Formats: sequence, C-alpha cells, structure tokens
Amino acid sequence: MSKDIPALQVEGMFKSFGDHEVLKGIDLTANTGDVISIIGSSGSGKSTFLRCINLLETPNAGAVHVKGELIRMKRLKDGSQEAADKKQLQRIRTKLAMVFQSFNLWSHLTILENVIEAPIHVLGVPRKEAIENADALLQKVGMYERRDYYPGHVSGGQQQRAAIARALAISPDVLLFDEPTSALDPELVGEVLRVMTDLAEEGRTMLVVTHEMGFARGVSSHVMYLHQGRVEEFGNPTDVFENPKSERMKQFLQRDF
Ligand code: ADP
Ligand code: MG
Repeated sequence: MSKDIPALQVEGMFKSFGDHEVLKGIDLTANTGDVISIIGSSGSGKSTFLRCINLLETPNAGAVHVKGELIRMKRLKDGSQEAADKKQLQRIRTKLAMVFQSFNLWSHLTILENVIEAPIHVLGVPRKEAIENADALLQKVGMYERRDYYPGHVSGGQQQRAAIARALAISPDVLLFDEPTSALDPELVGEVLRVMTDLAEEGRTMLVVTHEMGFARGVSSHVMYLHQGRVEEFGNPTDVFENPKSERMKQFLQRDF
C-alpha cells in the first residue's frame, strides 16, 4: 500500500527572489527507490528547487507531499508564504535529509558527535542506541576508523562521507544532495560517488543535483534537466542522454564536464 504513495511529490512550484522568478512551475514525482539526477547550467534553479522542497527557502506557490503528507503552508499579508505548522515542518524535515556541497559538518564536534546530534536532540533517540546506529552508518561509508576525528582533520571526501552518514542517521524517506562532489579535489570525487551508488543500489530515494554526468547516466533512474526554472527535459537516462528532445539539452550535453 505505502509503496503506491510517492516518496515525494512536488506540484506547481514557483519561487521568486524580488522580481526575479527563479522557479516557474516545477512538478516532480519521486517514487520509493527513484534516483533522480537534476542537471542544468549554473543559475537554472537547481539549488533553489531542493531548498524549496524542505523549506530552507519558502516557495511562493506549490505543494510538497512527503509520503503523501502535504506540508501545510499559510499565506502572509505581503503575499509570501510560511509553514503553517512549525511542528509538522520539523517532523517532515527529518524525512528529508540534505547533503550540501560544502559538507556543513559542525567543526567543533567529532565525526561521531556530528552523526548522533540530530538523532539524540531532534528525534529523542537514547544516546547508546544513537551511537550504535551511527557506528553502523560510519562503517557503511568507510568512516568508522575516523569517528573520533574533528572534521578539520580529515579530507574533504571523508567529510562528505561523514555528512552522508549524518544524513542517513535520521532515517529519512528522501535524500537530497546538492552538488555533493563539486567542492572536492578530483581524486576524492570517486569515493563519494561510490557511497552514493551504494545507496542508490540499496533502493534509497534520492534527488541529486550534480554535474557528474557518469553518475546521472549510469546510476540514476531518472534525469531532470532544468533550464531557467523550468523542466526542459525529463526521462530515463538512456532516452535523455542519447535522444534529447530539446535543443538546449543537446547543447548542454556538449559542454565539458
Ligand atoms: P543553481 O543551483 O542551478 O546554480 P540557484 O538555485 O542557486 O541555481 O540560483 C538560481 C537563481 O536564483 C540565480 O540567479 C541566483 O542568483 C538566484 N538566487 C538564489 N538564491 C537567492 C537568494 N537567496 N536571493 C536572491 N537570489 C537568489
Ligand atoms: Mg546550486
């Protein structure tokens, strides 16, 4: 039954900053296990789209359902919106974990402490259980041996793998990745993509903003090409890469990545 409810559904999402309309009506359905790569030029609205999904930015219009539950919004006098129910938002955010380009680990906490922070303080998991779970996740991403290091004392690839463990620690329904390998030295990209590929193969539901065309083509179930805040192309990677319908997508693919 719950398999039939999309993990994530976005309908008619619009977002403007001042009079700059960045998202112009985006729809997306991610079923459980879908891995959707979001590609497009810089400035096309990819980050804004991810940030509007978990309400790090408030969309001007549009509905977001997580496992069938609508995030309730209310309209303010100035026409903008905000979450209608802060408790609901906090709960839903634990179902949508985000991994950022710049890792965003707490620098004053060890890797392990980073991973157990939200489970203990947001979800109320007992510390012992949170540590057991964190240790298993750190094993999974190959960071168990570094669990007591501070983020500043490990490489960027290791920090990002720890950030992925931290995202997994809240048992989210959907993982949102915003260019997770873009800040890494080239030799460290592979280790992070490997972890993400493992997650995809496990059947995790993932939205991945990326310039890694190998990942988009080889790992994802769907590819979404955004151009100036609109979905210009959407489909399975083979169709989208080998037979793009849009001229802009063809031009985009001719760039060097
Ligand atoms: P992408 O991630 O595809 O590179 P972004 O979503 O970051 O694109 O940005 C899309 C557009 O929105 C850009 O023109 C950017 O300058 C603008 N933008 C993004 N965030 C803000 C903000 N907080 N305030 C004003 N403009 C913004
Ligand atoms: Mg971006």
